[in-house]
Order: sequence, then structure tokens, then C-alpha cells
Amino acid sequence: MKQGTAHLWSEPGGRWAIRIEIDGVFYTERDYVDAASASCAIAQILRQHAERSTDTDEEACEECEDPLDLMVCSQCGADGFVRTCEHGGARPIRSVDGALYCPSCRP
Ligand SMILES: [Zn+2]
Ligand SMILES: [Zn+2]
Repeated sequence: MKQGTAHLWSEPGGRWAIRIEIDGVFYTERDYVDAASASCAIAQILRQHAERSTDTDEEACEECEDPLDLMVCSQCGADGFVRTCEHGGARPIRSVDGALYCPSCRP
């Protein structure tokens, strides 16, 4: 992780949303009850990125607005942000027989 910026705002209905840009990739989360919990989520996401290697992360999709989702390998606990849409190639962390596997644990 080289740089990150975070935005938070209140949405119609009083819920809070956050958008974080980390090294040019956007992560958007919504539906926080208040500014405090939205701020906590920002800190948590930034900390996750600061602490981990990024070789299992996918680039954000250029063809749609679907967010990236954090997936965790069921074998070793490695995690990565992968696309939730159907575009692009195979996911770096993907489901095999109902469990999630990273590239090194994949059967
Ligand atoms: Zn897509
Ligand atoms: Zn693994």
C-alpha cells in the first residue's frame, strides 16, 4: 500500500457510506448506522491493507461498478479483494466445493 484516501458521507435516510481509495482502487461500503461506525470501518479497511501483502488482490473492474469483496482462504487464512462480477479471468481466491482457496492452497 502506497497511499490511501477515505471519504464518508451521510445518505438519504440517515445512513452513512464510505469510499476508500487505496493505490487507485476504490472500495465503497454503505449502510452504516452513524459516522462513528463508518469511521471505524475506514480504519479497519486501511489497517487490513497496511498489514497485508496484495498479491491476491484483483484490480477493480473496468466494465462495471460492482465492488470488490474481501475473501479469505479457508486453509491458510490468506485474504484478497476479488471481483464480485463475472468479468475478467479466474479469481485469485475462489470457491472450490463450497470452500475458499488461495492460489497456494488450491487442490
Ligand atoms: Zn465487472
Ligand atoms: Zn491458502
